Amino acid sequence: MFPARLDVPQEVLAAHAQPGPRYTSYPPATQFHPGFGAADAARELAAIGDGEPLSLYAHIPFCTRLCWYCGCNVEATRDRRKGTAYVDVLLDELALVAGATGGRPRLVELALGGGSPNFLEVADTARVVDALGRHFTLDDAAAFGVELDPRDTRPAQIDALAGLGFTRVSVGVQDFDPAVQRAIHREQSAAQTRAVIERARGSGFTSVNVDLVYGLPGQTPEGIGRTLDEVIALAPDRLAVFGYAHMPHLRPHQRLVERELAVPGIPARIELLRVVMDRLAAAGYVRVGLDHFARPDDPLARAAASGQLGRNFQGYVVERATRLVGIGASAISDVGRAYWQNHVEVEPWTAAVRAGALPVARGVALDADDEQRRFVIMRLMCDGRIDTGEVEARFGPGFAGRFAAELAALDAQPELARVDRERGEIVATPLGHHLIRNVAAVFDRYARSGRSGSPSI
Ligand code: SF4
Repeated sequence: MFPARLDVPQEVLAAHAQPGPRYTSYPPATQFHPGFGAADAARELAAIGDGEPLSLYAHIPFCTRLCWYCGCNVEATRDRRKGTAYVDVLLDELALVAGATGGRPRLVELALGGGSPNFLEVADTARVVDALGRHFTLDDAAAFGVELDPRDTRPAQIDALAGLGFTRVSVGVQDFDPAVQRAIHREQSAAQTRAVIERARGSGFTSVNVDLVYGLPGQTPEGIGRTLDEVIALAPDRLAVFGYAHMPHLRPHQRLVERELAVPGIPARIELLRVVMDRLAAAGYVRVGLDHFARPDDPLARAAASGQLGRNFQGYVVERATRLVGIGASAISDVGRAYWQNHVEVEPWTAAVRAGALPVARGVALDADDEQRRFVIMRLMCDGRIDTGEVEARFGPGFAGRFAAELAALDAQPELARVDRERGEIVATPLGHHLIRNVAAVFDRYARSGRSGSPSI
């Protein structure tokens, strides 16, 4: 299990912080290329037969205002008609995807993310839900989840979403400190947040997730501690705690967060994370993988305890299907031996769908080496360990020979992981669990061609 607290000196952690992927996919999204197109995606979809489980993610790229720290693909607008026009195209894309599958898949999961899915009028969200039944067999236990922005969600909308079958909600908080909220242009009170969560629970939602971010300008250990106290009082079932990825060269609007307050450096980030983890551990939350937390009886915590945790573009998940199809502008699919991403901007995505083509902009097909490395990296990210016998059972004998260079690299970093060739296991040390992205990077053949991404802590 990943250690519940950050019982490691700041300077030790800081010395190991390095930029890199979050490994929500392998190969990482930086390896997606435009040579992978609609025909390649169609080939993977064709392998999904009748009754096979499928998860669906639908990206809604609109928010009524832009948070300056935002790293998502969003368009800030107050014109709700854009949502209706967008859903028209989304439904056409859904028909294209369903038409490309090799049968009638069994839908086990729907996630609406963004952006802010609450931007949509309820009637438009209902059109999406209705279409699912036309194209897929709905699993009896199908789970529907939605991200809600508490600043912009009406009580009646929550009731209506519950009526459509949504039972899981994810609510962005980030930080309740007013100075931090001003710096990131996201002013949202604890009362607003509580009202949405209580209404959702009252309407029948059974799972509440809260997102927090550390490393934002103006955050202090005292301030983030107060935020944690307020969040814990909301009793979420799960929390996702992300380190802020400040990459203004890719997201120019992020420069705005630095107008008055500095973005914390690595040592300050570590102290913020230390407070977060201490508060959550004291409140009885279990750490799940690197950056998720859950009540001990939550399915996510149980999956982590039993080695059943999965990881995809939504973070750590209880995997209900091995195939995840993303629809909507910028959405990413994870199907079979490939990943692909739709056109990021709404216009080219719309044009492709209107032309009757899967709106794929780029992607990557995995070769046999990628598949094996993906398995190793995902088990490290989820469990902090690898059973080399399990790898050999899937990919053939000879793990030690195939990964001789990687094992030697780990031998040279005993502070991060212990390689036990006799027992056939690689186990991250407590420090290595906190820096599991560094351990995973040892098996990433693309990391050798240069690193980019957010700091590993
Ligand atoms: S609500 Fe979320 S997606 Fe929308 S701008 Fe803010 S951070 Fe970005």
